[in-house]
Amino acid sequence: MHEVVLHLGSNMENREQYLEKGIALLDMYVGKIIRNSSIYETAAWGVTDQADFLNQAIILKSGLKPHQILEKIQAIETLLDKKTAFRWGPRTLDIDIIFIDQIVIDHKDLQVPHPRLHQRKFVLASLEEIIPNWNHPVLNQSIRELLNICKDQSKVIKRT
Ligand code: ADP
Ligand code: MG
Repeated sequence: MHEVVLHLGSNMENREQYLEKGIALLDMYVGKIIRNSSIYETAAWGVTDQADFLNQAIILKSGLKPHQILEKIQAIETLLDKKTAFRWGPRTLDIDIIFIDQIVIDHKDLQVPHPRLHQRKFVLASLEEIIPNWNHPVLNQSIRELLNICKDQSKVIKRT
């Protein structure tokens, strides 16, 4: 069994509902969810001229292989009507694989740990809530350390 950390984001239509449906489908098709973070309201990153996102991080246990996990999350995104007009543009639901145990994958379709996670405060903030001491297997630093040194100043607000 793998311990898998995923990060979800939505900035179209009913954002809460997309997160909720995505999590229910992940639990059904990828593996049992063992932990989820609060929901965070965050400013769009990269292409900043678009609506704010809601983001949430989860941990699940899965018996699937890494590429099967990617296939399933892409099927779930499609099922939930993922529309992306352009890279980093608006989307109903985006699901990114952040970590799979301490495994390192560098394949053209799948890089784990997610290659940009440490540059993004909106990812690190939700991860810090549930896995502050998780070691990044390439950078060899914990999530808490990565958040402390992250230079990203964009808006990240925890929802209560
Ligand atoms: P982004 O998440 O960067 O905004 P997309 O969701 O459109 O963009 O992802 C594009 C591609 O990223 C997918 O086709 C997938 O093959 C690839 N990819 C590589 N590594 C990962 C990962 N760790 N998690 C999710 N997708 C990944
Ligand atoms: Mg993605």
